[in-house]
Amino acid sequence: MSPDESAVHLGDVSASEFRRAMHRVADLTADYLEQVHAYRVVPRVSPGDVTKLLPGSPPEEPESLDRILDDYKRIIEPNTTHWNHPGFMAYFGITGSGPGILGEALAAGLNVNAMLWRTGPAATELEELTCDWLRQLVGLPPAFRGHINDTASMSSLLALATARQRVGAADIRQRGLAGRPDVPPLTVYASEHTHSSIDKAMIALGLGLEQLRRVQADDGFRLDPAALAEAIAADRAAGRRPIAVVATVGTTSTTSVDPVRPIAEICRREKLWLHVDAAYAGSAAVCPELRELMVGWEAADSIVVNPHKWLFVPVDCSVLFLRDIETLRAAFSVVPEYLRTSEHEATNLMDYGVQLGRRFRALKLWMVLRAFGQRGLQERIRYHCGLARRFAALVQGEPGWEVCAPVPFSTVCFRAVPELPLEEQNRFNERLLAEVNARGPVFVSHTKLRERYVLRVAIGNLRTSMSHVAQAWELLRAVRARLAAEW
Ligand code: PLP
Repeated sequence: MSPDESAVHLGDVSASEFRRAMHRVADLTADYLEQVHAYRVVPRVSPGDVTKLLPGSPPEEPESLDRILDDYKRIIEPNTTHWNHPGFMAYFGITGSGPGILGEALAAGLNVNAMLWRTGPAATELEELTCDWLRQLVGLPPAFRGHINDTASMSSLLALATARQRVGAADIRQRGLAGRPDVPPLTVYASEHTHSSIDKAMIALGLGLEQLRRVQADDGFRLDPAALAEAIAADRAAGRRPIAVVATVGTTSTTSVDPVRPIAEICRREKLWLHVDAAYAGSAAVCPELRELMVGWEAADSIVVNPHKWLFVPVDCSVLFLRDIETLRAAFSVVPEYLRTSEHEATNLMDYGVQLGRRFRALKLWMVLRAFGQRGLQERIRYHCGLARRFAALVQGEPGWEVCAPVPFSTVCFRAVPELPLEEQNRFNERLLAEVNARGPVFVSHTKLRERYVLRVAIGNLRTSMSHVAQAWELLRAVRARLAAEW
């Protein structure tokens, strides 16, 4: 072997081998998306089953890409929970749409680490541009600047860190919180239905879970502004220092919408940071008629919207909008000598968060926004909301079932109401869910509302149509009838 041949041998797979395998990956992915409905949504596996199918130690000798892709097809694909399945109606339904998958593949090819403008000019500028497109699409004012993170959990953590920076005490960045008798407990307020990511942010920021006030919600699962005002007053009277309020537009259990306008008014009066968690429902604001549900969010200091939830962008892609993005930079920017560059006017994405390295997530967002266009996004979101309303009507029209929360978007909370004591009803619904999910064609999740075990159907997948929703309903009815007969 010549030195040149041996160098090629020691490099990556050859260009021709890569091209052939990439074509096969295209076929595998396209076949998968065409056929995904034929799988069970949740595979019939137990913990450890996948590991048993794989060797416990890495291969000593190189393996061919064909062999690896064969194993992908044989072991990985069938043992996956199929989030791209039309019967996936659990948690919040999502879609890795075609344009999004293409963007993800291209980003992997470029393998950009956009920590600095210089290390990723296109990635940096496309991120700024696509975030501004998204801002326009959801009808937020130009004052908001967007920043892409992996998840809403990270976006909310950064939002609360920025709140701490601005409202708390600027020197926390420098001196920390430990051993500081001069810093009172810093309190944050959110509804009892707020996502657990806010709890995690409290932990990570050193504020402590005890300083998260879970304010009581009203009958519609919305934060009660009067209870919020009272909680803030009580904390001030006790010498604590309120710093931020989290309002949720589209809570995880019921998709209820906190009354953002009165909450924003309290925040203005009390000089508190307002963070709006619109991770799921923010996407619905592409439809002007649904923006009514979020009135007041334009007064927030920060808002998180996850295009990877209901805007058909593959996981992960979360956009944090900030009115004052410079405070986020002030909270996190640390520039060692080896990362100094001369483009002082350019954005360096590493300054806006914890991590230095950054994936090129804007590419898939850009491709989705272009390939669907505003009209395409609106049509699909309206269709999903319509499916949810039709499902809710089916439930409501059947004796012995009830819809348990309003349906403002594409998620329905409901339960069977057999004539049994509440605890038995809960067990009945739990069994019902387990048996429906065990059948295979649909996957539904649950929550608990006022001590009631409640089922949730969440529409968010582009492949879901009325026939899948009707199938889910028929399955629920059939399993319920069987269970009732033997209960
Ligand atoms: N906020 C809300 C309202 C959510 O429903 C979720 C997840 O479902 C999150 C935040 C967390 O999202 P992520 O997985 O992007 O951190």
